[in-house]
Amino acid sequence: MSRIAYVNGRYMPYAKAAVHVEDRGFQFADGVYEVIAVASGRLVDAIGHLDRLDRSLNELRIASPMSRGALLAVMAETIRRNRVVNGSLYLQVTRGAAKREFAFPENARPTVVAIARNVDLLKAAANARKGVAAVTQPDIRWGRCDIKSVGLLPAALAKQAAKEAGAYEALLVDRDGNITEGSSSNAWIVTKDNVLVTRALSRSILGGITRSAILELARREGLRVEERPFSVQEAKAAKEVFVTSTTSFAMPIVMLDGQPVGNGGPGTVATALRAAYEAHAATHATGHPDWQAPFLRP
Ligand code: PMP
Repeated sequence: MSRIAYVNGRYMPYAKAAVHVEDRGFQFADGVYEVIAVASGRLVDAIGHLDRLDRSLNELRIASPMSRGALLAVMAETIRRNRVVNGSLYLQVTRGAAKREFAFPENARPTVVAIARNVDLLKAAANARKGVAAVTQPDIRWGRCDIKSVGLLPAALAKQAAKEAGAYEALLVDRDGNITEGSSSNAWIVTKDNVLVTRALSRSILGGITRSAILELARREGLRVEERPFSVQEAKAAKEVFVTSTTSFAMPIVMLDGQPVGNGGPGTVATALRAAYEAHAATHATGHPDWQAPFLRP
């Protein structure tokens, strides 16, 4: 089946979809994005993602391209046209195309792109059952990691280093020796005393939508939770390490820098939170109880 991309008001065949050569996303990474999970044709935690998109746009003073309702309609149509049942939707908004100058152009119109694809969730589930490896990498990113900007080169370099080491994710380490987050995920540990720890929100990490759902689920399960920095040593001595993201849900890290974590298998807390999150994803699809990808409607 041919794929379709949404670009600035039009649904285009994937091979023909394009933005201008002077788009500021291309020249300056002057744009933001969201990746939203699709479960049974519905967007998971759509409202949380759209709130974060608004926040990223506001922080960069990029004009909102369209109303929330219109954006939801574009996302629904992109899912429908690509027949996505379980997978992800990628939405990108840049400041637009303009003559190349560093300062903001006076009247550029934001560029909006949406693409969607099916993702093999069985493969992800198999990974989660076995657990995956991670390596540590220096966090060389900028001072506003709370903005979901398309300036992803440091994250790409870290992920490539992980891949070359045969690992699934890179955990990024700040100058104090503390783990900030994963290259495309939030990082968590379970200490020997069974305390669930993840770094507090700040400009050093992205406020993951999965992170906030997992925090809520953990508190509901009665787990002791601390939002604070933790060091590489603390992670290596922890009972469990795992990462969370839209595409990984909760993924146990069973090997860190070549050393087994805990007993070397997925931990009970990560496994339980993953199951709780899967149930959450099924019930929090869209955020609009009545909204569903049109092709799945009875
Ligand atoms: N941190 C970073 C740096 C990320 O790129 C991502 C995924 N985009 C996350 C955390 C997880 O965020 P979410 O749970 O919203 O996917």
